[in-house]
Amino acid sequence: MLKVDQIDVFYGNIQALKGVSLEVHEGEIVTLIGANGAGKSTLLKTLSGLLKPKNGDIQYLGESIAGKPAQAIVKAGISHVPEGRRVFANMTVEENLELGAFLRKDKEVRNDMEKVYAIFPRLLERRKQLAGTLSGGEQQMLAMGRAIMARPKLLLLDEPSMGLAPLMVKTIFNIIEEINSTGTTILLVEQNAHMALSIANRAYVIETGRVVISGEAKELQASDEIKQAYLGGL
Ligand code: ATP
Repeated sequence: MLKVDQIDVFYGNIQALKGVSLEVHEGEIVTLIGANGAGKSTLLKTLSGLLKPKNGDIQYLGESIAGKPAQAIVKAGISHVPEGRRVFANMTVEENLELGAFLRKDKEVRNDMEKVYAIFPRLLERRKQLAGTLSGGEQQMLAMGRAIMARPKLLLLDEPSMGLAPLMVKTIFNIIEEINSTGTTILLVEQNAHMALSIANRAYVIETGRVVISGEAKELQASDEIKQAYLGGL
């Protein structure tokens, strides 16, 4: 479904991604783990068209999307839930969800909103509440719900567990699995390697802009190197 081939991405003179290659197959949950500043968010921003690779290519459903405008990429079925869950604070939950569907012309927006409410009953309870007054976990749900409103084939999630209490982290990860089970492919960026590896099919480890390890999530979970560096030596 997605094939990233040897991309180099720069911020000015600073090279944030160095020859990164990875693949995501339809139906998978793939996770990208790595320390602060490794380049995880940069990769997602490049996939969603916010940054352009200087070299290399990105193939999505057989077509190159490298350097295409973000709007065209959303239309093609890739939705990005950025780090820090930026919701529109002065709009209600429901208005935020409506915005997620703004590029769509079909009449099924209402129907999809019901589906989002079925996945996130908490958002239904709070649909008239201003998004800025939601808790951190609820804002994460809203950011994910808004992305789902664009009917993505591929959902890019950037650190959905960041800053959330353990119980809410568990809820969010259960919901990610549920979204995946309805046919949405997921690329998940996480610092919580333990949780991410427990739900992913495959994983890539990124260090200072390079992919250094990749494999089946189960194999990585069992590897001593990964345990030492990313699983707190568990
Ligand atoms: P974190 O988990 O801390 O979010 P990350 O793996 O997502 O880390 P990135 O945000 O992709 O890392 O950053 C990769 C590198 O690029 C870092 O060295 C960072 O300082 C640098 N970087 C990120 N954004 C910019 C920017 N706008 N201008 C210059 N350098 C940047």
